Amino acid sequence: MPKMLRIALFGPQGSGKGTQAEMLAKKYNLPVLSTGEVFRKEIKEQTELGKMASDLINRGQLVPDEITNGIVLGELRAPKYQNGFILDGYPRNMNQLDILEKNIGLDWAILLLISDEEVQERLASRRVCSSCGAIYNIINKPSKKEEVCDICGGKLITRDDDKPEAIAKRLQIYHRETEQIINYYTEKGKIIKVDGAGLIEEVFEKIVEKLGK
Ligand code: AMP
Repeated sequence: MPKMLRIALFGPQGSGKGTQAEMLAKKYNLPVLSTGEVFRKEIKEQTELGKMASDLINRGQLVPDEITNGIVLGELRAPKYQNGFILDGYPRNMNQLDILEKNIGLDWAILLLISDEEVQERLASRRVCSSCGAIYNIINKPSKKEEVCDICGGKLITRDDDKPEAIAKRLQIYHRETEQIINYYTEKGKIIKVDGAGLIEEVFEKIVEKLGK
């Protein structure tokens, strides 16, 4: 039996959460739940939720907690999450943390440390596949062919919320709200802090070292 591993990744936007989540998912055979991805899919499919979320997301604001909490709790009830999971982008504030901890709980909170300046630089060079959501970076993780996804051949784009005004807003929200969550897991002794500024592989190895092989 694989050991139960309920993880959430924290760090400002562009700290590499999505990339590390994918790598950890493969290594530990766990599903990833990315709330950002859930919302982007809803937007693409032009659902009611998508229409409501798109305006907020493009301005770098959070989707209301009642909606986000409902989606996450509903999703985590599915059988595939019963041996553990990797959360990317949730919980994002104390209300979300409260709901998560009352209903399910986490084993580890992994924090990727990176400065605001590095965030600004990284997000400006981040590209996502408009078709399958794969993440690239034109500086340190480029696609083989410019603007084309290696996996599905889709067009690579800059997300609207990776544009400078939205980045500034998102960093402000991150510092105001997410850091309280970090304090919570630090007090519980459940935090793993890793320097997120290194190479992708190095960051990954450091996380695995602390989680156990
Ligand atoms: P991300 O890809 O995690 O940066 O998420 C993109 C956007 O989706 C965020 O800027 C928020 O507008 C929204 N979002 C993602 N996760 C959450 C969450 N846990 N609570 C509220 N809004 C969220």
